[in-house]
Amino acid sequence: MRYFGSVYRPPSEAYSLIVQVTYGCSHNTCAFCSMYKEKHFALRPLEEVLEDFEMARKTYRKVGRVFLADGDALVRKAQELYVILDRIRELFPECERVTCYASPSSIQIRTEEELRTLREKGLTMVYMGLESGSDQVLQKMNKGHTAAEIIAAGQKVRRCGIALSVTAITGLGGPELLREHAVETARAFNAMNPEYIGMLTLMVEPGTPLYDWVRAGQFQLLTTQQVLEETKLLVEQLDTPGSVFRMNHASNYLNLRGTLNQDREAMLAEVQRALDGQTELKPEGWRAL
Ligand code: SF4
Repeated sequence: MRYFGSVYRPPSEAYSLIVQVTYGCSHNTCAFCSMYKEKHFALRPLEEVLEDFEMARKTYRKVGRVFLADGDALVRKAQELYVILDRIRELFPECERVTCYASPSSIQIRTEEELRTLREKGLTMVYMGLESGSDQVLQKMNKGHTAAEIIAAGQKVRRCGIALSVTAITGLGGPELLREHAVETARAFNAMNPEYIGMLTLMVEPGTPLYDWVRAGQFQLLTTQQVLEETKLLVEQLDTPGSVFRMNHASNYLNLRGTLNQDREAMLAEVQRALDGQTELKPEGWRAL
């Protein structure tokens, strides 16, 4: 396949065919994110996108899953997304799911009719970054949206029959906003009731504003103990029946997984064991993004 620059995908898309339909992220200013700093956001020419799918058909015997990269595939015109999804269906009748990242802005600009049509044409799930349910944290991190806007975008996606996977980042409020970040993030998850919740743990990447803030002493990172305390607070507040909770990203010190609400107590017990020093945590040097 032909790729431009670094390509990112959620952990659950490890075995998917990945095709870039956009380059970079349409927002690209979150203070903690270095993912697409090397490229300006652009739409990839449609013909090239379709060619990649044709090349993949010739290369792979079975394509069960497709992930449309980069950061915000949903921002393309609905008509172009229809063409892409139709071609996927034509070429890969065996394909069970098509997913992509979606920003709150790209969800906002799509009408509900367009989202429903995208679902009918095979877009099964979108991944959206909440990062935090706290407006203070979102503003500080330059997310470009309030929690209410992100929640509304998530609810819209679900209303239109598209499954939703939402991620947030432990530690994003620093010690100062630890409690608010945990409680408000849980509240936002509860309001969206997404199919999947993914928790990452903050890592500081060179080349980001956050990196400079940390170096200048303007932002304090959580200790491992505080990360666990924040996780405990968050899980305690979660009330989102049916959501699959995953904290199994390379950035996490502790892996946690369960279905809410039934596994909440078991997950809390695991966090408590870690807080009590009875669980081995991922060493700092093994963490990655
Ligand atoms: S966190 Fe997401 S929205 Fe923010 S700059 Fe990175 S890719 Fe873009």
